[in-house]
Amino acid sequence: MTFKEHIAIARRAWKTAYEWDKGYFLSQLGASLLSAATPFVPIYFSARVVDALFDGAEAGRAALYAALAVGITFLLKLLEAALNAVKSAASTKAFQREGWSFAEKAMEMDILTAEDPETARLRERIRMESQIGFNRFYLFHCAAMIVSSLTRILSAAALSASFFAMDAVPLWARLGLLLGVVLTVALSAYAKRRETEINNKFHRESVGANTYYFSFFNYVKDLTGAKDIRLYAMRGFLEKRGFSEFRVFFESIKRASDKAMIWTLPVSAAGGLLRIGLYSALLFAAFAGGITVGSIARYAASVLLLLSGARDLVSALEREWMNHEYLARYFSWFDLPNRMKKGTLTVEKRDDCDYEIEFRHVSFRYPGAEEDALKDVSLTFKIGEKLALVGENGSGKTTFIKLLTRLYDPREGEILLNGVDIRKYDYGEYLGIFSVVFQDFRLFPFPLGEVVAAGREYDEERVTESLRKANFGERLKDFPGGLRGYLYKTFDESGVEISGGEAQKIALARALYKNAPFILLDEPTAALDPESEYEVYSNFNAIAGDKTTVYISHRLASCRFCDKIAVFDGGRIAEVGDHRSLLEKGGKYEALWNAQAQYYRENGGEA
Ligand code: ADP
Repeated sequence: MTFKEHIAIARRAWKTAYEWDKGYFLSQLGASLLSAATPFVPIYFSARVVDALFDGAEAGRAALYAALAVGITFLLKLLEAALNAVKSAASTKAFQREGWSFAEKAMEMDILTAEDPETARLRERIRMESQIGFNRFYLFHCAAMIVSSLTRILSAAALSASFFAMDAVPLWARLGLLLGVVLTVALSAYAKRRETEINNKFHRESVGANTYYFSFFNYVKDLTGAKDIRLYAMRGFLEKRGFSEFRVFFESIKRASDKAMIWTLPVSAAGGLLRIGLYSALLFAAFAGGITVGSIARYAASVLLLLSGARDLVSALEREWMNHEYLARYFSWFDLPNRMKKGTLTVEKRDDCDYEIEFRHVSFRYPGAEEDALKDVSLTFKIGEKLALVGENGSGKTTFIKLLTRLYDPREGEILLNGVDIRKYDYGEYLGIFSVVFQDFRLFPFPLGEVVAAGREYDEERVTESLRKANFGERLKDFPGGLRGYLYKTFDESGVEISGGEAQKIALARALYKNAPFILLDEPTAALDPESEYEVYSNFNAIAGDKTTVYISHRLASCRFCDKIAVFDGGRIAEVGDHRSLLEKGGKYEALWNAQAQYYRENGGEA
């Protein structure tokens, strides 16, 4: 990092600190100032007490000094405790604020970035580094350390200045001690730098293992895996799998801390030597009659405090500088680019809902993949049309919907809405025209009504109507708590653990409530029982109304009534047409259709 970059990062960090957690910062600063200054009160007064006793002054004066020492210390401690209380409340708020900022960024991030393993690694490294104290809050810690060490240095210098000016100790000894202080400080600064470098290297190298560690525990703890673990007796297997990785991780922790430990030895040795020198000089001066007995304690304490103050100051400055490297990474999370959100055009709100979508020679490849998931796909569909996407698993149907909803942008070609490249539209507005249910949809554990409306305020009648259309009407009648009843038990003990099919119906209701002109459904009935499936399909026209619908289905029978069927094969659209024309064509669709029809015939059913 260049000097300029260091300064830029520091400025950004302080600015963020000011905006996010002023209270936390100020209370921490105040508390460390007090905690640094307080020890000097007894140091100062105890010397006065001892001297008063030795001088043969009346006992009252010594008692007064003692009382002042106790009283002032007590008051300062009280104030420090109050500041610490403020700090601890403010820190909770500051951590919350930080957590939410991370979440906000994650929510806004391009899906492609969010899915990129590098993004997960970056997040993990920041999390790891924050846990061991680096990053934004370390900034405060360093600042507090700088303030407290400066306070200590100033007060210790004031108390020990007369020692260094004292003739009772030979000049060479005084200079020697001063040099000792400087050298010890330099040595400990160097040691601190080495230690930080060792830790830095360790963090860089252990991100992978650490990510494994956390993901592994999450998997093992996660209740959704509980059944599989029991039924396949996976405990021993998991233990072996996990511990072989952990061993590597723990060994590298140990290696790093052993290396860092080595550097504490010369620093302690230098501190010890300095102490011996200091006490010898003080005793020498006392025997020579140059200082009082009370002053021995005062000088010894204040010179040692001067040493520790200077050591802490250098180390705080050093660590603050080092921390910039962590901070640069920290901020790089917030700087991850959002490429999707460049468009500005408003999407026409047409009463006639006259929209037309066109895929023009669209190709797309997932990051790191060897092959395109979509290859030169061209397709047009108009408002009001019912389009079905069929084809084998992995043939690109879901990717098609993800591109249409701009979760990703094409690698080649373009997608047009009413003749305009969809990238030119305002992202949020564009998403607003779609009601989507993906296969891996997620329902949040909130009250049913809020889940369907995706909001706190909702129109009860419309929510009920959407649930009814999604075939959840009967269940709603006996749903505990009605629309106010919670889904799942995450946030409410009386929440309802719904089945996969029920979840799918609620997800469909959420899409209907949004009331967007396009409805996109990825296998909307995969989890439904045959009866519900039949209901959904036979009501499909009522459900979709005049909306444009695109849906992926493996039940070809349900596609029969669509205006258009696009058959996907290996990332390409192999055929497009309606049911009848595709059957007559005798291609891929006919083959798929016959395979299913045969299954139904063999099972005595009807295709
Ligand atoms: P379908 O919906 O027809 O089953 P998909 O569109 O989900 O197929 O997948 C098309 C291809 O893209 C498959 O080969 C799949 O493995 C691959 N694919 C899907 N999602 C990802 C992803 N997030 N990263 C990499 N490859 C993916």
